Amino acid sequence: MSHSLPKDARFETRAVHAGQGPDPNNGAVMTPVYLTSTYAQEAPAVPRQGYEYSRTTNPTRTALEENLASLEGGAWGLCFASGLASTNALMDRLVPGDHVVCGNDLYGGTYRIFTKVFERYDIGFSFVNTTEPGAIAAAMTPATKYVYIETPSNPLLSLTDIAKAAEAAHAGGALLVVDNTFATPYLQRPLELGADIVLHSLSKYLGGHSDLIGGALIGRDDAVREELAFYQNAVGGCLSPMDAFLVLRGTKTLGVRMDRHCQNAQAVANALSEHDLVDRVIYPGLPDHPQLMIAQAQMAQPGGMVSFELKGGVGAANALASATRVFTLAESLGGVESLVEVPPSMTHASIPPEVRRAAGLADGLVRLSVGVEHQDDLVADLHQALDVARQAAG
Ligand SMILES: *Cc1c(COP(=O)(O)O)cnc(C)c1O
Repeated sequence: MSHSLPKDARFETRAVHAGQGPDPNNGAVMTPVYLTSTYAQEAPAVPRQGYEYSRTTNPTRTALEENLASLEGGAWGLCFASGLASTNALMDRLVPGDHVVCGNDLYGGTYRIFTKVFERYDIGFSFVNTTEPGAIAAAMTPATKYVYIETPSNPLLSLTDIAKAAEAAHAGGALLVVDNTFATPYLQRPLELGADIVLHSLSKYLGGHSDLIGGALIGRDDAVREELAFYQNAVGGCLSPMDAFLVLRGTKTLGVRMDRHCQNAQAVANALSEHDLVDRVIYPGLPDHPQLMIAQAQMAQPGGMVSFELKGGVGAANALASATRVFTLAESLGGVESLVEVPPSMTHASIPPEVRRAAGLADGLVRLSVGVEHQDDLVADLHQALDVARQAAG
């Protein structure tokens, strides 16, 4: 059903068309939501177009998988019921005794599935500061199967040099997995920098409207695809056709949305930097970001996420997050609406306080997902909430 797009079609064009084309039966321009569990066969065990059962494959999901593969510059994509279901599928390839080197400020749920689920199966994890050159190589063992990084990381927006991480992973015979949820392929394409597998929570920017949960793996090597597709079907954590449709609607506008997310985030980061109640603003578009050179080398723009530390600690942070009127107090990120959250109390509460602090996650940390509203309204909202926080801080 794919369009025969020109080979050199650019990102924004592929975002709208890749994997999709008018329906061969009736010309429907939008890929239909194939709400079917099973497919009529020509003869026993002879499927008509490769489709037999929707846990294994579904045409709406196939369209999204092709679309995402095109956007990330991969050979294939596989979609799952959540970002964590994608992580789970990756881990299903490992056996007891295997080892993973990973970043030390990963998404809280990633830390949880590694330590609470897969450590029980005797898979080892080394959490290291992957922003430090040499840290990955030093943590590799002969049993290391994956180097698993997030860049920008969550919530500290620290950056890891993807090309160097790929070298270190490959030198030790491991695959480099990059969680590209925060950057999206519009801003950063890890496969082009040497990564082997890209992971996404589709629930964030790719869906883009905070109306679904989904995940994806995108890669290059067909043998790895076969294994992961086996676990997608055998374990069953596949994306539903309705959610695949919603993500397809989201990716069409990814570039337009990301441009506005980035503009607004830069405006918000600049305004916060000038505020006396703010200790530190973390944004890859500010000149004092610790890995500014990496941002400029591997990201097209600095992204839509901004974190900052408030003077007055968690009391002030909680007061600010409760006082905003345009920013909604909620977990998650990447939707058109602006969100505010306090990671130590919310998304990262599953990480023990001492582990959190050791990774540089201050108690007064606030994380913003800057939406596509008017930037003046966003800055004004933060100013009035900072006034409330100032009173709370005394
Ligand atoms: C949300 C998120 C995940 C997990 O995705 P779900 O869709 O919530 O399961 C993984 N990584 C990052 C960076 C995320 O933000």
